[in-house]
Amino acid sequence: MTPVQSRMLDALAPVLGPRGIVTDPADIAPWETDWRGRFTGRAPAMLCPASTAEVSAVVAAAAEHRVALVPQGGNTSMVGGATPGADGASLILSLRRMNQLRSLDAGAGLAVAEAGVILQSLNDAALERGMRFPLTLGAKGSATVGGLVSTNAGGVQVLRFGTMRALVRGVEAVLADGSVHDGLAALPKDNRGYDLTQLLIGAEGTLGVITAATLALVPAPAQAGVAWVGLASPADALALLRRLQAATDAVESFELIPAGSVAAVLAHVPGTRAPLAGDHPWHTLVEATAADPAAEPPAELLARLLAPALDDGLIADAGVAASEAQAEEWWRIRHSISDAERAQGPAAQHDVSVPVADMPRFLTEGAAACEARFPGTHASGFGHLGDGNVHFHVHAPAGADPARWYAEEAPAASRFVHDLVESMGGSISAEHGIGQMKRDELARLASPARMRALKAIKAAMDPLDILNPGKLVSPAPR
Ligand SMILES: Cc1cc2nc3c(=O)[nH]c(=O)nc-3n(C[C@H](O)[C@H](O)[C@H](O)COP(=O)(O)OP(=O)(O)OC[C@H]3O[C@@H](n4cnc5c(N)ncnc54)[C@H](O)[C@@H]3O)c2cc1C
Repeated sequence: MTPVQSRMLDALAPVLGPRGIVTDPADIAPWETDWRGRFTGRAPAMLCPASTAEVSAVVAAAAEHRVALVPQGGNTSMVGGATPGADGASLILSLRRMNQLRSLDAGAGLAVAEAGVILQSLNDAALERGMRFPLTLGAKGSATVGGLVSTNAGGVQVLRFGTMRALVRGVEAVLADGSVHDGLAALPKDNRGYDLTQLLIGAEGTLGVITAATLALVPAPAQAGVAWVGLASPADALALLRRLQAATDAVESFELIPAGSVAAVLAHVPGTRAPLAGDHPWHTLVEATAADPAAEPPAELLARLLAPALDDGLIADAGVAASEAQAEEWWRIRHSISDAERAQGPAAQHDVSVPVADMPRFLTEGAAACEARFPGTHASGFGHLGDGNVHFHVHAPAGADPARWYAEEAPAASRFVHDLVESMGGSISAEHGIGQMKRDELARLASPARMRALKAIKAAMDPLDILNPGKLVSPAPR
């Protein structure tokens, strides 16, 4: 620990108390490596404030002492966004003790949750009141409200409810000088210039520290239906989605999965079974819900809408889950793809988006181009077709040495994929953010106008570069 870090901790000790300052390396260690184990940093201390006033004191002290902070929630970032640099210059600012649900107003459809509230807890609390927070993702048992807001997280219900940007009604945040922005009032109309709430959403902890957020709730679904569909191509899948959307607004998830990903799950995840008999090059997992108990049951709705698609050959086969347990089994296949594919060997993974209409072309022609450029690799994408967002993996050739492949081949494959995405007018980060993993690629590919604006905003709101240095557009890791 540097002398200045030590002086800062001395100044904060009376404010935070013993639980608020962690310096035992063994207690800090689990929070110094990212979820995927790709980045490991070092933080001489982890600060754990329990209130907005304490966060304000921490950030003010950091500004005074010029000590950098890495805001952290559940540490489930896919881009090393919450991992400190390796030089020990930053302290981790953990929001996990700020875990109160301040209010939940079912009538207004609003909840005010502190930054450290875990997504699963929020979902459970809302369900107890007949409501739900309509965002879920694989890391729901660890990801926190502060992290979800700061990454503008997506997930599997974006098709119907949008990303966090559409669900956050206001935020409370501590800005880089320690001042508190109280923007929790959910104002349907507010034109006081730049929208600070929207600026802080997706800022990855580089502009301010979220301490609480006002979140939109919707009525809990009274009924749900899940279908698994086998079909020939991503183009057919998109045509099916468009048909379903034209017939109903009940569809909230539509996940596209290639045969290879299903096979990987069946091979590596115990207890999984193929949802359909027979082989199909592509699969989709569709979920529809209804809040009205008197509405046509979504399972029947899906069966009714899928029948003509079967008759006219748009799809090859389909099944509707007969029970909640079967629906969960099918969702388990979807959520196990990343882990199963990792078990198969090294792969360069990309979270990318292109315009929805172009996604079938990206998935087929893009994958073929990638495989031609890197002989022996296998490229495939799965995920949120209706959002134009897939997780696109380039798998190393069989027998490749993982360390060598990651060091020498994977970066080139990633640049190739990102160039392709860019050429189609897409985004190199659809939902995971930039963090430290994609910082250089953002700098390489973003237009001068975008980079200038992002850097100007960062410099204006955090002139000392104390908030999450080395991430997004912050100059250099510290
Ligand atoms: C298995 C798995 C599945 C996932 N699926 C999805 C998915 O479907 N869709 C999706 O969008 N993401 C997904 N993710 C990524 C991840 O869950 C999200 O990015 C999530 O929002 C991160 O929340 P967190 O609390 O863990 O944040 P962290 O990982 O701790 O932090 C993420 C970023 O937010 C910043 N941050 C955290 N808290 C605050 C705060 N209070 N104030 C300011 N900045 C803060 C950090 O500095 C960092 O830049 C997945 C991750 C895993 C491991």
